[in-house]
Amino acid sequence: MKDSMTNETSRPNRSGKPAGKPRFQGQSHGQNKPRGEHGGKPHFRNDKPNTNHRRMRAEPEEKFIRRAIPEIDTPFTRMGIDPRVAINLEGLGIETPSPIQEKSIPGIVAGRDLLGLAQTGTGKTAAFGLPMLTRLLNIGRKPEPRTCRALILAPTRELATQIAENIDAYAVGTPIRQFRVVGGASINVQVMRMERGVDVLIATPGRLIDLIERGAVDLSQTQYLVLDEADQMLDIGFIHALRRIAKMLPRERQTLLFSATMPKLMEELADSYLTDPLKVAVNPPGQAAAKIEQGVHFVNQGDKATLLAEYLSKHMNELAIVFGRTKHGSEKLSKLLEKWGYKVAAIHGNKSQGQRERALAGFRAGETKVLVATDVAARGIDIPEVAHVYNYDLPNVPENYVHRIGRTARAGRDGRAIAFCAPAEIGELRAIEKAMKAQIPVVGGEVPFEASKMRERGGPAGGRPAAPGGQGARKRPARRPSRAPKSTQRA
Ligand code: AMP
Repeated sequence: MKDSMTNETSRPNRSGKPAGKPRFQGQSHGQNKPRGEHGGKPHFRNDKPNTNHRRMRAEPEEKFIRRAIPEIDTPFTRMGIDPRVAINLEGLGIETPSPIQEKSIPGIVAGRDLLGLAQTGTGKTAAFGLPMLTRLLNIGRKPEPRTCRALILAPTRELATQIAENIDAYAVGTPIRQFRVVGGASINVQVMRMERGVDVLIATPGRLIDLIERGAVDLSQTQYLVLDEADQMLDIGFIHALRRIAKMLPRERQTLLFSATMPKLMEELADSYLTDPLKVAVNPPGQAAAKIEQGVHFVNQGDKATLLAEYLSKHMNELAIVFGRTKHGSEKLSKLLEKWGYKVAAIHGNKSQGQRERALAGFRAGETKVLVATDVAARGIDIPEVAHVYNYDLPNVPENYVHRIGRTARAGRDGRAIAFCAPAEIGELRAIEKAMKAQIPVVGGEVPFEASKMRERGGPAGGRPAAPGGQGARKRPARRPSRAPKSTQRA
């Protein structure tokens, strides 16, 4: 359960789930049963209300730790994962290793550095988390004050939280503790918690540097390092923080770097962090998952909101993420949709951590159906029920398109990604298609309209694509209504 004051994710109870309830690929709701109820695995009864985790944990946990190492044989133990960790996986729906796990776990267990080209949704958290826990259990010593034995760096608070929840779930029944340090939460509380040291520190680079500068974190004993979504860390501008952190780590360490794309700067970063890495790729960079049905509309900027409302109305009970480019634009759009009666929340850089977490929790629970988000806030979101992604504004970094649409069609489900392309965004669209090496099908047979040709003809700044025959653009705007269509309004 997460303590919003401390940012610390307390250990999940013996019934096996962390508070954030990560769902797992190939697992439907309700399958996620507590271990004690299904499968007959060891658990401790906990009849008291779950109010004081620290006090309640102590006794049963000690007994559990002294328990014999379970004798189990699973595909994960066969790859070298410690049975004390592997025993937790079945209850989480993780039974067969995913391709990234199959390709990387044996090498990581053997101590190799790794360069993994993989997006979220491929099972990369378990790919680095399970060998990490295995190693920490096998070394079995306590962290010294202010140190961490393993460090996981992630670009955003949301991703850090997800990683923390997953690590907690994998580590149930072991003495391994994680602590998450991210911006937007009290640094003093984090300083105090770090005084005891921690097995696994999960951090965003900026906050980690702040803590190091205050003398609250010492990386000299960190022997296992993970850089997750490294390309996004570079996009956000963490390169300097990452260079500084690299210098503080001991040479003798194992490093794993995961990235969905491999921009030039990444090669430099990989060179400075990794030694003779094992290279593993699951989705070739820039290629979208095959199960996502994609489409693009050519539409006036001013008509996008109405078009979006039409889509949302058609799929009222399904979860949708709408991507805007700016914080301000996303906030404005979410307010408009709210006015039109949609249950909507927004997450972007101007929202506090609390607001972002509440928005995500409401969306995850299906209380809000529409999440309007910017790239920074939304990347890494792993909610299998997301059925639609709308690229309300096209991203100006082509790779972000792949990340955005990767929020849908997760955990074996189908998903739809619709892009709204205004005439001024044709350049972005073509760059995305070039990066993906594929064309995005045009929805409804609209004719692509190239902005440059439009300008030559003296057309409006934002017009519907010219109809075949070259006339429609100026006379017929794509979407007229300046208010939501009646059918979209809700009580
Ligand atoms: P990730 O790529 O780490 O964000 O993982 C995406 C989702 O897949 C998470 O909910 C994981 O818990 C889940 N997952 C990871 N490995 C497996 C597996 N081998 N089988 C089924 N689900 C998995």
